[in-house]
Amino acid sequence: MVHVTESGCTGRWMWTRELTGRARGELAELNRLLEAVTADPKKSDGWLWSMSSNGVFSTGILSDLIRSKVLNSGQNNCETLRNNLVPKKMEVFVWRARKNRLPVLTELDKRGVDLNSVRCPLCDGDIESVSHSLILCKHTYDIWCKILEWWGWGRSKSPSVQVEELFCDTSCASSDIGKNIWQAVVWSCSYLIWKNRNQKVFSNKCWNVPVAVNEIQVKSFEWIAKRCKYKPIDWHNWLHNPQIFLS
Ligand SMILES: [Zn+2]
Repeated sequence: MVHVTESGCTGRWMWTRELTGRARGELAELNRLLEAVTADPKKSDGWLWSMSSNGVFSTGILSDLIRSKVLNSGQNNCETLRNNLVPKKMEVFVWRARKNRLPVLTELDKRGVDLNSVRCPLCDGDIESVSHSLILCKHTYDIWCKILEWWGWGRSKSPSVQVEELFCDTSCASSDIGKNIWQAVVWSCSYLIWKNRNQKVFSNKCWNVPVAVNEIQVKSFEWIAKRCKYKPIDWHNWLHNPQIFLS
């Protein structure tokens, strides 16, 4: 039973049974905290949110806190890239890839997951890092070469070998809209390559290069054409003459 007065809290505990063990320590800690409490009997009780200056909970403040504490913490501190031509889930995927937070086998191994092997489950030719999985794996690299061919570069351009460069480099386009479109294509391609890797690992489904390129062309068109408000994108040119969208 507790009485709250202007001079503080007074009262006595009425336990149905004697406290033992950890509960005694918790009671001592509670009493210590209550000593510092100055109660106002004229005001009603309520909750205060200690993370804002006015004590009022706000999802906006919480969102900012999560963004600053989680998204921008740790190694490889990098800003979150945005691209309004692809679904939001792809921005999260790109962020995870740039921060080495995709669950490739070497990253799982670093985090203490017990694995039989960290070699690439697709080619077995190297250890599976993020850059190997998304770019350097022989299955993946052939897909990138075909994508570059589709965009008219043929052998004059090689796929980026660094993850950061892959997601950020838009120098091949001359206009801002073109840079946005090219980045959206690269992100879509990477996302589908990663999805395919997971299907192979978890469902043993195979994805050969022609099927992969076709799916990337179709899906990237679906994602990008409907979101691109500044430049109409039609399927025929997307398939046969996509360079026109980069200028
Ligand atoms: Zn591989």
